[in-house]
Amino acid sequence: MNVYLDNAATTAVAPEVVEAMVPVLESCFGNPSSSHAAGRKSRVLIEQSRRSVAKHLNCHPSTIYFTSGGTEADNLALRGAVRDLGCTRIITSEAEHSAVIKTAQSLAQSNGVTLDLVRHLPNGQVDLEHLHALLQAEGKTIVSLMHANNEVAVIQDIARIGAMCQEAGALFHTDTVQTMCHYAFDLETLPVDFITCSAHKFHGPKGVGFLYIRKGIQVKGQIEGGSQERAVRGGTESTHNIVGLAKAMDLAYADLESHQSHVRALKARMVAGLKAAFQDIRFNGDSDHPDGLYTVLNVSFPPHPKSGMALFLLDLEGIACSGGSACSSGATLGSHVLRALEFHDPQRASLRFSFGRYTTEEEVDYALGAIQRVFA
Ligand code: PLP
Repeated sequence: MNVYLDNAATTAVAPEVVEAMVPVLESCFGNPSSSHAAGRKSRVLIEQSRRSVAKHLNCHPSTIYFTSGGTEADNLALRGAVRDLGCTRIITSEAEHSAVIKTAQSLAQSNGVTLDLVRHLPNGQVDLEHLHALLQAEGKTIVSLMHANNEVAVIQDIARIGAMCQEAGALFHTDTVQTMCHYAFDLETLPVDFITCSAHKFHGPKGVGFLYIRKGIQVKGQIEGGSQERAVRGGTESTHNIVGLAKAMDLAYADLESHQSHVRALKARMVAGLKAAFQDIRFNGDSDHPDGLYTVLNVSFPPHPKSGMALFLLDLEGIACSGGSACSSGATLGSHVLRALEFHDPQRASLRFSFGRYTTEEEVDYALGAIQRVFA
C-alpha cells in the first residue's frame, strides 16, 4: 500500500481542478495581453479567477497579484518593501521558510538592510515582548512572520502581530502558504500588508500562487519584462494555472468545516496510535496542541539504531512523509526549523506527517503499522 502523508510539501491536484484546467489548455491558448478575441478569452478567465479569489478573502481584486508560487510571492514582498517602500530593516525569525529567511539574509548582505531575528517561546510561538522591543528601533521596517509553521504546526497570532506592526508604523508580511484554504481569512479586517499563497498546498496546480498587496501600497516588479499584473510581475500569465488555483480555492472554501474535521480526526488517530506504540515520543511545536496547524504532525521518535534511516525505511514501506521541509527532505542536513526552535535531537528521528483531503483512516492505520515495523 502507498500512503501519502506529505501534504505540507504538496498535495494531489483535485480531479475537479484538472477538469477546470484541461479546457483552458485545450482551447484558451491566446496570450492574455493580446487584444484579439483569443487573447481576450484568456484575459476574461484570469480576471474572473482574480475576482473569485478576492471574494473568498474579502478583499478587492486589484490587491491580488498572481505569481509562480509562494517563493516568488515571498521574494516580491520583501524585495519590494526594501527597494520600493524604503524599508531599511527586516524583522523575521529563523523558523521561517527559506523563501523568507534566505531572501532577508540576502537583502541584509547586498542592500545593507538591518536584519533582526525575533526570539521564540519554548513551544515555537514568537516572543511578542521581544517583537515589541524590536519594533521600537528607528528605521522603516517590514516584519515577516509566517502564519503557520510548515514543520512544527505552530500558528502565530497574525492579527495581534499585525496590530503591533501598525502601531509601530511597520509593514507586515505573513506567509500564509500553509493556512490559505485551510482557514478562513477576512482581509478587510486582518491588519496585514502582504500575504503569500501557493496553490499546490490546497490541491491546486504547482507553479502558481499570488501575493496580496494591501491597497495603496505600490511595489515595482522584481522580474523585469512586460507589464503584466499591473507591472508588478512581468511574464505571460499562466492562464490554466490561475484558473486551477481559483477552482482549488472554490473547492476548499465550499467545504472548509468538513475538511477541518476530517483532517483533525485523522491527526488525532495518528497521535493516539503513536502514543500507544511508543512511550518516549515527542510531538514537536504545537503538533499535538488543539490550536496547532491541524494538517501537520511533527514527531521525534525515541532514540533507535535505525533513526538515521527512518525516512528511507518508511519510503520502502510505501509511506511518504518528510524529515523537514520539502526542499530538504531526504537530504542529510536536517531541518533548520527544528534546530532554530531547539527541537532537534541527533539521537532521534524527527519526522513530519501531514494530512490532506484524500487521506483515509485506513491509510493512517497502515502508516502506524509501518512505523512500528521500522522502529521495532
Ligand atoms: N512558504 C511556506 C510556508 C511553504 O511551506 C512553502 C512550500 O514548501 C513555500 C513558502 C514555497 O511555496 P512554493 O513551493 O509555491 O514556491
